[in-house]
Parts: sequence; structure tokens; C-alpha cells
Amino acid sequence: MDVYISANAFWALLISAVEVYKRECFGILLGYRDSSNIYIVEHAICYQTAQRRHTSVEKNGRASKRIQRFLGNLPHLSMIGDFHSHTGWGDLKGVGALSAQDVSDMASDHLSIIIVANDKRRTGAWQYNGDGTLSGTVDEYHFRLGGYYLDENARPKRANMFCPYAIGFNAKEIPQKFIRTAAPSSRWSRPKA
Ligand SMILES: [Zn+2]
Repeated sequence: MDVYISANAFWALLISAVEVYKRECFGILLGYRDSSNIYIVEHAICYQTAQRRHTSVEKNGRASKRIQRFLGNLPHLSMIGDFHSHTGWGDLKGVGALSAQDVSDMASDHLSIIIVANDKRRTGAWQYNGDGTLSGTVDEYHFRLGGYYLDENARPKRANMFCPYAIGFNAKEIPQKFIRTAAPSSRWSRPKA
């Protein structure tokens, strides 16, 4: 299983984790499944009503039902999964492994992204890791993004995460990168009068 993360979704995942750092964030993933083996994550939306604790997060049942119905009526996007963070600071380390609760919350055809957020020890460029995760640093934080799904035997498996936007990205180079991605292209140029 391959998972592609848009620049939008990438920042939303990181910002959600940082906002409630020391507690877990929870949210939903919007996008589509391109074939049986590819998820495209266009947006990551944080659940404001989630009850956050250090090692767990619970979604508000009523709000969740309302959102499910709303999302069922979106024209082009669908809910393809959810995300939450595993966080640590100081000597407590956030770990990437799925908890027993995480596994029991998983469903077939549903992608779960876990953002492992820890205090940064040293600056590291964003990179793909051999285990399918994607990691790097921004500001004072080290992040590792992992994607999980259930295989045909309902066993949890780790997907291969891809975020072309994040790769080669270095926090100090944001202005340069931004200038490059914001360069005029056919998509952004104004229609000729
Ligand atoms: Zn978890």
C-alpha cells in the first residue's frame, strides 16, 4: 500500500500535533483511493471536539456522526481514514507502534496515520525510512509519519508513505522552496483577456 500526502495535508498533520503537543491530536483524512493500492491524502482535518489525553484521544460520538453524514455528501472527496499523534517530550518518548486500542479502532478500507512527535535532538532533513515511514524535523520537533491499514486477513500493516513536497525540505529553506513552488505555471497564471 502506498500513501501520498499533499503539501496541505502534510502541514495540517504537523500543525495538529504541535497544537496539542503533550496530548494526542485526532482528525480525519480526506482524499481518495486511486487504485486498490494507493491512497491520496488531500486534506487532514483536526477534530476540535476530541477529548485529548497524553496517551489517548477519544472522539466525540455525536459530532463524529454528524461529520460522517456531512462527508458522505461531499462531491469529490471522501473520508479515507483518520490520524492521531503519539507524542513525547523530555525523557518520555512518543513511539510509533500501534497501541492495542489503535488496532481495535482500525477498519478495512480505512487508513490510519500516526504522527510520532518528539522533542528534536538534532536537525534532520525529511527522508523516507526503510520501514515505510517518513521523518524529519521542523522547529523544535522531530516527526515521524506512519500509515497503517488492515490487509485482506485483517492484520495491521504499515504502508509506504510518500510526500514529494516534504522530501529535500529543510526548515531553513522554506522561503526558497516557497518561491519555487509558487512560480507561475499554467495552473496559476491568469486567463488571458
Ligand atoms: Zn495511537
